[in-house]
Amino acid sequence: MKFRNFKMVDRVVFGRGCIGQLDEILAPVKHAAGSRAVFLVDAVFEHKDLASRLPVEEGDQILFVDVSEHEPKTTQVDELTEEIRAAGERLPAGVVGIGGGSVMDIAKAVSVMLTNPGSSADYQGWDLVKYPSLWHAAVPTLAGTGAEVSRTAVLTGPVRKLGINSDYSVFNQAVLDPDMLSGVPRDQWFYTGMDCYIHCVESLEGTFLNAFSRAYGEKALELCREVFLGDIYPAEADEKLMMASFCGGMSIAWSQVGVCHALSYGMSYVLGLRHGIGNSVVFDYLEEFYPKGVVEFKAMVDKHGIDLPRNLTRGLSEESMEKMIDVALSMAPLWENALGPGWKEKMTRDRVRELYSRM
Ligand code: NAD
Ligand code: ZN
Repeated sequence: MKFRNFKMVDRVVFGRGCIGQLDEILAPVKHAAGSRAVFLVDAVFEHKDLASRLPVEEGDQILFVDVSEHEPKTTQVDELTEEIRAAGERLPAGVVGIGGGSVMDIAKAVSVMLTNPGSSADYQGWDLVKYPSLWHAAVPTLAGTGAEVSRTAVLTGPVRKLGINSDYSVFNQAVLDPDMLSGVPRDQWFYTGMDCYIHCVESLEGTFLNAFSRAYGEKALELCREVFLGDIYPAEADEKLMMASFCGGMSIAWSQVGVCHALSYGMSYVLGLRHGIGNSVVFDYLEEFYPKGVVEFKAMVDKHGIDLPRNLTRGLSEESMEKMIDVALSMAPLWENALGPGWKEKMTRDRVRELYSRM
């Protein structure tokens, strides 16, 4: 048996207002004369107070990244990489990604691509990155994906939606400031939070589970229950959800996600559904796989008055349905985690089709 030698985030700062420490965090990174930092900021913050509070110095670059229409694409990563390269003779000292899972993943991918040749599509897969990335930091503005701790940067490329999975994509620094969550619209807060809840259930119910992922998964699940089923102040909920996301990410880093994520990947690929919404739509129908988790999930949906989209596959062309099934079934490690090594006998194309047709 060979055990994984796990790469983790080098440094983590947590606390309300800790984004104010970004300047002292960046100072040693930018120690060389003439070196610059690049801030990749979710475009929702353009013209907002947050953008003006960032420690942007002369020579630094601030690029607003629009992820409102679609989740990160390899083409988007390649364009940003070119723009950053073109802005100076030397590479930047570091990249700071400020946003939800999408912008954090873009920051990971861009920091990898600034030191590696070709297109980001060439690195979709496991351990394909050749050279160490630039120093990069995450400032999450949504909580749930765990992208701030994971080693994957999920990208939609010309042929597939698949992460760049590499030790080089792991952030050097995470800046976990619960104040970043204060203005998030309710639905988005809920859907991204449910991503975390589903990570926990899929990790804890999976066959890959070990004591490491269980410890983090159980803590994250407990925090999700307090946040989504308890009666706590919103400010307290922000702190707990940020820690839940972190622990949930740690849990799946060592295990894997399961049925919901596999089906949701297929759905997002074909229908362009966002990750958190896609997971929520799918999880609602997975009682046979995660009986307790789905009952609790439904209670969370009710408590927060969330109107889940329905009938998304009604009227779908046969070609699109086939593509959705292909993408879902290509997620072998997820199925194996959920159903064990004999998953192929249990999860046939017909069974996947039947599940999708209910959604
Ligand atoms: P997101 O980053 O896609 O953002 C969703 C929407 O919320 C966007 O329109 C964004 O502009 C907006 N937004 C972000 N922060 C906001 C704020 N503070 N206030 C108001 N609006 C805000 O959402 P997400 O759920 O955090 O991330 C989903 C993405 O993360 C997907 O691309 C998914 O593939 C990826 N993901 C990655 C991992 C990983 O381990 N790397 C894990 C799960 C999901
Ligand atoms: Zn997820």
